[in-house]
Amino acid sequence: MTPREQAAFKAGIEVAQQMALTAAVTLEVRDDARELRQQAAAAALQGFAAGLKIAFLEPPADQTRMRRVFEAISAQDGDSGTVECPECKGRLSWARDSFNGHLHGQCETDGCLRWMQ
Ligand SMILES: [Zn+2]
Repeated sequence: MTPREQAAFKAGIEVAQQMALTAAVTLEVRDDARELRQQAAAAALQGFAAGLKIAFLEPPADQTRMRRVFEAISAQDGDSGTVECPECKGRLSWARDSFNGHLHGQCETDGCLRWMQ
């Protein structure tokens, strides 16, 4: 792709990501937002948006770094724990929300890795 085509592609991915997140928020504020079907749909849209970001918008170095973190986390049992931060070798705490399945992570080092998805 030419740089111009790459920019247009990236802009399209960002729009798709924003639309998915907007649709998820729309579901979350409905009167029936507590129903499992609405929660599942919102979670799927959030996962789709996160997947678009990881697959197309983040630089490859970040993808590799985050993939290593997710592999280390998935090798652990339970809904929370700590792994070695791939960035600074410090302690990175993680927790999975048992309600919506979101994975939160934060390195102990100020300004280092931190995410919620
Ligand atoms: Zn770190």
